Amino acid sequence: MLLNSGNDTVPGRYWHHLDDGRIQCDVCPRFCKLKDGQRGLCFVRARQDDQMVLTTWGRSSGFCIDPIEKKPLNHFLPGTPILSFGTAGCNLTCKFCQNHEISKARQMDKLGSLATPEMIAQTAKDHGCSAVAFTYNDPVIFLEYAVDVAQACRELGLRTVAVTAGYIGDKAREEFFRHMDAANVDLKGFTEDFYHKLCSAHLSDVLETLKYLKQETGVWFELTNLVIPGENDGDGEFDAMTNWVRENLGPDVPMHFTAFHPDWKMMDHPRTPPETLIRARDIAIKNGIRYPYVGNVHDKSASSTYCHGCGDLLIGRDWYQLSDWNLDAHGCCANCGTGCGGVFQSTPGTWGPKRLPVKLI
Ligand code: SF4
Repeated sequence: MLLNSGNDTVPGRYWHHLDDGRIQCDVCPRFCKLKDGQRGLCFVRARQDDQMVLTTWGRSSGFCIDPIEKKPLNHFLPGTPILSFGTAGCNLTCKFCQNHEISKARQMDKLGSLATPEMIAQTAKDHGCSAVAFTYNDPVIFLEYAVDVAQACRELGLRTVAVTAGYIGDKAREEFFRHMDAANVDLKGFTEDFYHKLCSAHLSDVLETLKYLKQETGVWFELTNLVIPGENDGDGEFDAMTNWVRENLGPDVPMHFTAFHPDWKMMDHPRTPPETLIRARDIAIKNGIRYPYVGNVHDKSASSTYCHGCGDLLIGRDWYQLSDWNLDAHGCCANCGTGCGGVFQSTPGTWGPKRLPVKLI
């Protein structure tokens, strides 16, 4: 297959030559081995002549300003707007993908016109956003572009957020997360069988990323577990997952148990009953997780944040609207003074639930 030779193709990082003449991409644990002209599984990284290239630098699938809670991040600058965008392709093959029009895109003409890092950062700043999110598809596969955008954002005082499956190689991981201030990482299940059968990936690599984030970085991160009936919704799996999180990442990492809806290659599975999400949240609480939430369902109580010291309501949420705020200017409980894990401004943002599509100029 011929590669796009426009200026959206840039040299890729993290690859090496193999003895048999192929080159191996080391960006993610899939380690695609390519002959000249071939693309990796993510489709956007490819071998061109004798090097790896990224074919989607500067090409976006669209921009939208979202509430930061939609990423989801409940403990990072609550109430503020965040400029969100993605590109095309993905390095996982999740049969339940809820974003498959973007992640499975094979046509680069699905992508918009050139969006330079400076244009993106300036647009976010002009709209009063707190941050820019790399989302809709996994930014690991467009690492070079994400890093360039992140640098432009930081120059304008904006934060950066990655929404990712955490499926990334050792060296690429260091560079990628050095440029991120926060992340939401999908923990899609807690068995190798689940990752193998439904994502063609390995749980162990994702767990390595999570331990790296906790032990080696200052990135604020939260976890999302999409709960699929009959696949990853057993008490034993919730128990093992939440115990692992508390023991390896600590009690302050928020966990979002979110509802699945039939999509992509899993149209035969029903929606997740709200009671299942409550059951997962209850197990998380039993195992010492301080900030477990339900998502994709309307449940004010189970979407709100409570003080782990006195039990008072700290941050009330009604979908993506903040309804209560009982943190002091230092991010501590206004009632008992116990600190709440997260990154908070002295007052909450007032963006509300709005979604605002934007065009770059
Ligand atoms: S980033 Fe893409 S090309 Fe590289 S190993 Fe992963 S799927 Fe393969």
